[in-house]
Order: sequence, then structure tokens, then C-alpha cells
Amino acid sequence: MPIVSRELGTPCIVGTQKATSILNDGDIVTLDATNGVVYRGKSEEILQSKSENVQNASNQNNGGNNFYRKIVTGTEIHVNLSTPELVDTVCNRDVDGVGLLRAEFIAAELNMHPSAMIKQGKSQEFIDKFASEIAKVARKFQPRPVTYRALDFKTNEYKDLPGGAEFEPDERNPMIGWRGASRYVSSEYVETFKLELKALKKVKDTYGMTNVELMIPFVRNTWELAKIYKIIEEEGLRNTGLKIGIMVEVPSAVILIDKFCEMGIDFISIGSNDLTQLVLGVDRDNGKLNDWFDERNEAVLRMLERTIRICREYGVKTSICGQAPSVYSEFTKFLVKCGIDKISVNPDVIERTRSIVAQIEHKLLLEANIKADKENHKIL
Ligand code: PEP
Ligand code: MG
Repeated sequence: MPIVSRELGTPCIVGTQKATSILNDGDIVTLDATNGVVYRGKSEEILQSKSENVQNASNQNNGGNNFYRKIVTGTEIHVNLSTPELVDTVCNRDVDGVGLLRAEFIAAELNMHPSAMIKQGKSQEFIDKFASEIAKVARKFQPRPVTYRALDFKTNEYKDLPGGAEFEPDERNPMIGWRGASRYVSSEYVETFKLELKALKKVKDTYGMTNVELMIPFVRNTWELAKIYKIIEEEGLRNTGLKIGIMVEVPSAVILIDKFCEMGIDFISIGSNDLTQLVLGVDRDNGKLNDWFDERNEAVLRMLERTIRICREYGVKTSICGQAPSVYSEFTKFLVKCGIDKISVNPDVIERTRSIVAQIEHKLLLEANIKADKENHKIL
């Protein structure tokens, strides 16, 4: 939810810790999410002053966009999209592609658990909907690449979809449960994954879009990827020009990154939200631990540096699609210094990120030149 509201530029309050105990169903409250305040009752005064502030801020933002010049950077800047609402406007912005197209919004629009759809004979409806939504984004952004990430709902989220209760187990820790790659290789779920692959095939064969890439989330083991490659091959999508990559968001993927590279992946994208949670042992949704969840922690940074360095040795393209570079400029600078190929951020910080990246790239070049000149005794 915070990710979607951020993307839409709508302020949102999360992690209040006590709202569910002190508020009752039906209570009326007024939210000032920009400042993180919840008022009891309906306050016309607050609503009025806040809507004026929002209007002023959005006017400033629009004007602010012109502040940034169109800059060329060696590091590509991509955008994360989790809803289709912004596609028409964001495609005209200064971005090199979509670094993360979240599939979950398409499933939410279908409003039925995928396995329930299969059971009710609605597989073709699933394929058609996914194909048309992906193709819509691909057409808007072409020839720039669109990285489609296969479904990564957790079991509790799947369960909330109509028909989901029949197919989803109760899990104590859905964040580290049956999600991502582990679902695709499970006999109970593989047919749903195949529907996504069939949709991707349709995007290429029927809609003629060739700028879509496939990204596999929450990969824990090389054997999972081997099985997934096989399924992709059975669906006629292996060695067809479709680029296939993995998200690096589980520490095992960082540790075994050389092995994954040797398997012929085309790219990796760092999921810093999950990676931080798992490296630091901090539940990313636990408001009580806000001060512990920090992507800038040295342990996380070392994981990133290692991943990017080894991928570069193997010639595997590196990217990031977690929230960190959308929030911390120093994190973006660190990634550029490590030599990352692309950074994917939320729509509201595209121009700012490009500007930060250009600045750090220029600085690095300048320093390299000065160092070389010193070594050649051109300057004292
Ligand atoms: C991440 O983990 O950083 C990521 C982009 O994936 P999600 O937030 O959907 O888990
Ligand atoms: Mg993730």
C-alpha cells in the first residue's frame, strides 16, 4: 500500500502501532497524511487547509519539473510502476524504460484467485487480461524495455482474493513463505505461472511487442531457476529473444550470485526492500522496528557492492528496483560508484535521480582524470 500511494503521489499513513486498538469500525477520523497526524472526527477546517496545501505543492512540483534539464547519464534511469494509472503520463518523462512492472495490479483487477479462475475454466480470460495490460504498457514505452515481474503476492494477499481461501495455506510468516519462485515450481501453482508465460507469449506473437523482459522474484536457489527455465522452455519462450532475469532479494542469491550468472541470466535487479529485511532480520512491515530497517546499513551495502561487482565480472546487467534510491540520494550515489547499470525509481523522483546520477558520474570522471594526470606528472 505505501508503495502504490507513493507512486500516485497520495500521502498515506502506515505503522501507527495503536490505531487498530484505539479506533473502532465506523469511527470517523480526518487524516493529515502529509504530516502523519490522525484527528478524531471530521474536521472541515483541516480538510480545507490541507487541500489548499496539496494544490500549492502540486503547482510547485509541476513548475519544478522544468528545473531539471534533460541530462544524459551513463547509468540508465527507469521507473517502477504498480498501477496502470500513470502509464500515459510517465511514458513521456525522461526515463529509459520500466524497471519494475508489478503484475499484482492486473490480478487485483481480475478480482479472483488465479487457481480459482483455472478451476472455473477462466484461464483464457486470465491470459487475455494479462497480455492486454502488459502490451498496453509495452506499447507506450517502446522501444524502451519494460521489465515485467511475475506475480509475487504472499499467501495472505492471495487469500484475500475472492476464491483464495481454498488454495492458500495459513502461514505464520508470509514474507518468508510460499512466494515468488517457490510457487512457480510447486505442482499446486505451476499452471498459474504458465498462464503468465502464455500471456507474455501473446504480448509478442499477437500484439507484436518485443520490448518486454521477464523478471523472477524471490529466487532462493539455483535449482529453482533451473526448473523455471525448463517451464519457460516448455512454454516456447526460451531462446526466443525474451530476456530473463532474477531479483536479488534473498541473501542466498547474493552469496551464490556467481552460480546464477553462470546459468545464463540476462540481468539481475536488486530488491532492496526484501534484501534489507532478510539481511538485518527486520520485518519490513513492522512499524515498531522502523529505526532498524535501514537500507543504508553497512551489511546491506556490502551485499550490494558484492552483487554488482560479480555481475559485472560476468557481464550480467545490474539494476535495482527497491525503494531505497527513491528515498536516499546517498544510496543512489553509492550504487553509481559501484557501477550499477540502471536504477529504477518511483515516478515522483525520476528527474531528481537523473540529476543526482549525472552529478556523481561527472565527479567520478573528474577524479579519474585528475588521478591519471597526476600519475602522468601533468599536474603537480
Ligand atoms: C523489493 O523487495 O525491493 C521489491 C522491489 O519487491 P517488493 O517490494 O514487491 O517485495
Ligand atoms: Mg521483493
